[in-house]
Amino acid sequence: MRRAGAVVAQVKVLIRDAIRPGITTGELDKIAEDEIRRAGATPSFKGYLGVGTTPFSGTICTSINHEIVHGIPGNIVLAEGDILSVDVGAIVEGFHGDSAFTAGVGEIDEKAAGLIDATRESLRLGIAQARAGARVGDISSAVQTYAESQGYEVVRQYVGHGIGRALHEEPQVPNYGMAGRGPLLKKGMAIAIEPMLNIGTWETEQLDDGWTVVTADGSLSAHFEDTIAITEDGVEVLTTPDGYVF
Ligand code: MG
Ligand code: MG
Repeated sequence: MRRAGAVVAQVKVLIRDAIRPGITTGELDKIAEDEIRRAGATPSFKGYLGVGTTPFSGTICTSINHEIVHGIPGNIVLAEGDILSVDVGAIVEGFHGDSAFTAGVGEIDEKAAGLIDATRESLRLGIAQARAGARVGDISSAVQTYAESQGYEVVRQYVGHGIGRALHEEPQVPNYGMAGRGPLLKKGMAIAIEPMLNIGTWETEQLDDGWTVVTADGSLSAHFEDTIAITEDGVEVLTTPDGYVF
């Protein structure tokens, strides 16, 4: 899992550095796929069958502005002031890594920057709750409490998850809930914590492409995710390089 996480981390850095006005999400997707294959890994999402019948066609998910998650990369040109959520997954020797970040394209306004900062911070606070003996609800509550204190809503319909030989395993890790409740975290578990924060309503809609999830009211949305391992004495973040802030 460490190796899969390291590939994902490296891809995130490459994509983060490539995001600029004028580039297409399809070009970013190619950068990601090339790097994953160069590393001897396999994209987790490409060909993935969700609840629909259309396999996901991209290596990464690229979700712009009011798109929350699962945006399909293609001929969409990024524009100054957009915000872009990038979700990356890779498999190494049968184990998955899964991670996401949101970044501004060129200069972004204060409203968008505030949303991104709060989403990043809610992930940090969620991770800070994770340890052997804690409950999933401790993470959920930390994310929700902080997000709502900053005036944002957390998406209910899509949640974090256990991860390992499958991309999505038990337990579910919601971004809302009560401390002290939910499944117990144990040493050796790996989970993906992934807050999705909206400026407006938490309610979502899915587009006719069968994948892209958008905010029901068209408000901006941001998404940060890391795969973490529960260790003897805390956690290990597998999908972000030490000291790197996306
Ligand atoms: Mg993800
Ligand atoms: Mg995930």
